[in-house]
Amino acid sequence: MSHSVVANSVVKRIRGALLLEEKSPGILSTLKVLPADIKAVNATASLFIKSLLLGIDHSLQKKQNSVKFDDSIDIEDIEELPFEEALEYMQKRLPVSAEEYYKLSDKARFRAFTVARLTDGDLLKKAKSFLEKSIAEGGTLSEFLKKTDTELLGELGLAGKGGGWYWENVYRTNVQTAYNTGRAIGFENVKPLALELVGIGDSRQTELCRSLTQPPVRRPYGDEFWELYWPPLHFSCRTTVRAIYDPAELEEEPITNIPDGIEKHRAKGFGTYPIDSDTWWDELPSMKRRAVAYGIQSEIEKVRKIITNRQMANGMRRSIFIPLTEEEKQFVIKEAEAIGIDKKYLVFKENHATGYSDERNKIFIGSDIFPSNDKSTHNRDNLSVRAVLAHEYYGHKVNKGTKIPQGTWNDEFRASYQAAKNAPNLTQEDRYRLILDALDRAKEAGIIIEKNDFMKEILYGKSYD
Ligand SMILES: [Zn+2]
Ligand SMILES: [Zn+2]
Repeated sequence: MSHSVVANSVVKRIRGALLLEEKSPGILSTLKVLPADIKAVNATASLFIKSLLLGIDHSLQKKQNSVKFDDSIDIEDIEELPFEEALEYMQKRLPVSAEEYYKLSDKARFRAFTVARLTDGDLLKKAKSFLEKSIAEGGTLSEFLKKTDTELLGELGLAGKGGGWYWENVYRTNVQTAYNTGRAIGFENVKPLALELVGIGDSRQTELCRSLTQPPVRRPYGDEFWELYWPPLHFSCRTTVRAIYDPAELEEEPITNIPDGIEKHRAKGFGTYPIDSDTWWDELPSMKRRAVAYGIQSEIEKVRKIITNRQMANGMRRSIFIPLTEEEKQFVIKEAEAIGIDKKYLVFKENHATGYSDERNKIFIGSDIFPSNDKSTHNRDNLSVRAVLAHEYYGHKVNKGTKIPQGTWNDEFRASYQAAKNAPNLTQEDRYRLILDALDRAKEAGIIIEKNDFMKEILYGKSYD
């Protein structure tokens, strides 16, 4: 499922890069990362989100005594659930509001984007070094290109049972992170008496996890130990936590002490309790170093900014990572035409925030053109597609080349105000929300606006005197 989507995407893009090198020798050495593939990012994101849901769900099954999340079985289970079903399942069973859910899924998507892009860099690097090696041994590029997909994947560490080295190290770690974050969220909802670390005591277990799970550390729920030792505790870690709800169980096997000297084994960037710190989804220091080396740090930061800004706005519109369907695109075009916008100005763009580009004189349309539909009470989240289009066209486009810097409060204020005033065929609610948006933009910048007659009329109705 997501593994095969990722593997196919990698093979296709590696071949693309090698063919490019065949056409223009030397070009490969200038590339640091494969071109992004949104399908692979989405497949990775849905795997992480499902792992998170599964973690929440498992943590709520109070009577469950042992937690198994080691070998491929559970990953297969999550993967078998189609994404929409996973969502529906979430809404029916789990105590997470739609708004919370979207926040979580945005974070998981950010992590997926980061992991996918870093993998794109790692794998290109690997492919390059295999190519160099085979040329040094007397081979040629065209011979290298004759390798089958399976051979190529094998050299890159993406083949074999369980998906190979990459799957184990990179994806497994992130799946475990999402899963254990889900568990923490679930426990917050139904607080246990204590928690216990559960490890897998085979030859792959690290010294740290062995010392923490044989015998298992049990500490009260809320104990400060959990702030620093929330699994995963290192790359490829398979340790997890289970909850103890039954006082009798604690009588039999009471709270244990923390083994001495474990501090020195803590892996950097791991172990922090995911709920208080809310950093489980963020770039680890090691990820950041690689992102800088591959020249994709600014790309990652851009995506991060979109996510964190949306949180600052206290709610959000539709996630830009959920692609628009063909029907939705047609709907957007119809809405644009209804208010006199020629569709030649519209450019649909995945993973991109909606906005007007002065340079291109186009309105880029991302999935956030749609309201969030998550009962958000934030006005901006509830602007209709038509109102947003009016803001971009009658607000920004008509002021193309403006002296007011883009993105400042007064640029945005003017855009929403003029949209409310000048766009044809808006509903009363559209105009009302656009005026509220204009006022919000000012308020967010600490500016108080004295309402003029037009604003009063829209806000309070025609009878206003
Ligand atoms: Zn471990
Ligand atoms: Zn704007």
